[in-house]
Amino acid sequence: MMKIRTRYAPSPTGKMHVGNLRSALYEFLIAKHAGGDFILRIEDTDQERFVEGATEIIYSTLEKAGITHDEGPDRDGGYGPYVQSERTRLGIYMKYARELIEKGEAYYCFCDKERLATLKTEVVEGKEITVYDKHCLSLSKEEVEANLAAGKPFVIRQNNPKEGATTFHDELYGDITVDNAELDDMILIKSDGFPTYNFANVVDDHTMHITHVVRGNEYLSSSPKYVRLYEAFGWDIPVYVHLPLITDENHKKLAKRSGHASFEDLTEQGFLPEAVVNYIALLGWSPEDNREIFSLKELIEQFDYRRISKSPAVFDIVKLRWMNGEYLKAMDPDAFYEMAEPYLKAVLPENLNLRRIAGMVQTRIEVFPDIAQQVAFFAKLPEYDTAMYAHKKMKTSEASSLEVLQEVLPLLEAQEDFGNDALFAALQGYAAEKGFKNGYVMWPLRTALSGKQTTPAGATEIMEILGKDESLARIRKGIELLQNV
Ligand code: GLU
Repeated sequence: MMKIRTRYAPSPTGKMHVGNLRSALYEFLIAKHAGGDFILRIEDTDQERFVEGATEIIYSTLEKAGITHDEGPDRDGGYGPYVQSERTRLGIYMKYARELIEKGEAYYCFCDKERLATLKTEVVEGKEITVYDKHCLSLSKEEVEANLAAGKPFVIRQNNPKEGATTFHDELYGDITVDNAELDDMILIKSDGFPTYNFANVVDDHTMHITHVVRGNEYLSSSPKYVRLYEAFGWDIPVYVHLPLITDENHKKLAKRSGHASFEDLTEQGFLPEAVVNYIALLGWSPEDNREIFSLKELIEQFDYRRISKSPAVFDIVKLRWMNGEYLKAMDPDAFYEMAEPYLKAVLPENLNLRRIAGMVQTRIEVFPDIAQQVAFFAKLPEYDTAMYAHKKMKTSEASSLEVLQEVLPLLEAQEDFGNDALFAALQGYAAEKGFKNGYVMWPLRTALSGKQTTPAGATEIMEILGKDESLARIRKGIELLQNV
């Protein structure tokens, strides 16, 4: 059996978009599921779109995401170079373009801007393209030679027939047939000598022995032209999997301004790379059961590209937050603390037991930045409304709370052991003696101690963290507020 070889072929144009990361992940999973190789190829032939530092972002993103390539610019596997500008310099594309010219499947075009401007244009996927009229196809061999010898600028175009039709197969979209008359004579080699993506992707996928091509469905409409190139060369066509669009909640294409369109945006917002990868795997793919949490290893085992869906995938930040929360809960407490520490230190004084507080919030947050609003009350009692003391279920009122706080204050003042267990026992004793339910006593206390309706810990734990002086000060403050109601 042929070894499965897939590739991720990013253009270094900026941060790694969620859609690109999904392509990379699916390519990686397809290869690893089958024991194959995953190749990284840098497509930098569009010099105008090249962004300094973008290649480094690609490397670091793949590494953080755990998507490891077997071959690439930094890992030679014998099919290199893996950077298209280097391949251009070696004349690889030019060699294949000449082969097509020999076969009558491509031709030199010397038309200048002025002439092209007079030609018909068509709008394809929002972009205006010139429909070339094959003018230069009629140049004689001698004319071409003379132009080349004179150093006249040229491009090389694909020579598509005007008759017949081309069919290709996509694993998700099935057979797609287009009339050849609709295929423009696209440029293969540009006037700067670089190949277009359209040409380079075919040459490279073939020469790198790629078996499966996974990419966004914006390439679907160009694929018949790629198929014509494969046929012209007499090469095998890889398996194509064109992925559905990723949209935002409003069913619009996920855009930069959404604030969470790239892997970097997400990790900067405190999402764990593993959770992001898990979530992205499910943007268009689902396993047979309804399971949602997968490690990368489990994804490799389970991933079957035939289960990718054609319908657009909606990027749901709420769902990703939930998933990230599940990953946080499952973390080893020490590892969690290590990552939570900077977020805790940003809002809390260091004399508080930060490790203990981390333990309290581990199961309660979805992303690290949630920590601040969970724990800030430890540092400073927020202003609160005394109406909070009235709790239906606990059967408390502002008046009952005032009474309870006034009664427990001397007990707590006398309390020597300010640990959670001792405090709890003391307060439980008080409640039992008075015939109160625990909540009737704890609710007012927790309110006075935190000024919040929900806290990551109960009243006695909060007291242990705050220490005696601060706890008593907050209870006195509660009494004072309630007295003024
Ligand atoms: N360089 C192309 C891109 O970044 C790759 C498309 C493909 O995977 O063939 O969109």
